[in-house]
Amino acid sequence: MALFSKKDKYIRINPNKSVKKAEPREVPEVPDELFAKCPACKHMIYQKDLGIAKICPACSYNFRISARERLALTVDEGSFQELFTGIETSNPLHFPGYLDKLAAVREKTGLDEAVLTGLAQVKGKRLALAIMDSNFIMASMGTVVGEKITRLFEYAIEEKLAVVIFTASGGARMQEGIMSLMQMAKISAAVKRHSNAGLFYLTILTDPTTGGVTASFAMEGDIILAEPQALVGFAGRRVIETTVRENLPDDFQKAEFLLEHGFVDAIVKRTDMRDTIAKLVDFHGGGK
Ligand SMILES: [Zn+2]
Repeated sequence: MALFSKKDKYIRINPNKSVKKAEPREVPEVPDELFAKCPACKHMIYQKDLGIAKICPACSYNFRISARERLALTVDEGSFQELFTGIETSNPLHFPGYLDKLAAVREKTGLDEAVLTGLAQVKGKRLALAIMDSNFIMASMGTVVGEKITRLFEYAIEEKLAVVIFTASGGARMQEGIMSLMQMAKISAAVKRHSNAGLFYLTILTDPTTGGVTASFAMEGDIILAEPQALVGFAGRRVIETTVRENLPDDFQKAEFLLEHGFVDAIVKRTDMRDTIAKLVDFHGGGK
């Protein structure tokens, strides 16, 4: 007698038999804000290990931070005096839903626009400061951003102050079309007037600085610094690759690549930025 009959090889499925569903297993919940994934090296990092400067302990990538967080890291406590608030766009193209979107982003970020402008002291040095925030419609440059930065330069000329700008931007604000592109020329003219007055202008490129901001005031600094591994470029990688029909190097448009090719003067760690700004402003006769 065979030990196993042939039919035992098959499992018979009765199509009429109801299938018992497995009990849902309890999955332990991990709060979203407990871990962060590094966009550069893809490591999962325990939030606490990022510290307040939010630097990846594995690869030193500087995480994107809000304008307010950067302000707290950079300026002397209590020294910031915000200027040029309350300027609103008139929605020149009557872009549908644009004003509602702005209202929602204002509510979410606590900012009135994609750039924070004002007066501050860094290690006792007085300066005019602008910080762009990529949480605000990707820090795109519209008429209000242009107006705020232009007024900051004009104020700095009157007060004989150095201007320091932390740039970040996805480019022009598409909802404002050509009006947004005009800001490139408007700000550049203000930069030139500030320069003619013999005053110092420092830009710090943070991740990501692209489009019309790169093509204008981000690259017009007397000294141009960048944060490690920041993406800096005009057009996106795919656009360029399909246009020139060539593959680009992996580090193309990274701060390190730009430093090697002379577009950036130095890459400065976020934790050293405060000291560096104070030294540079002092050295160039500003901040008194
Ligand atoms: Zn990393």
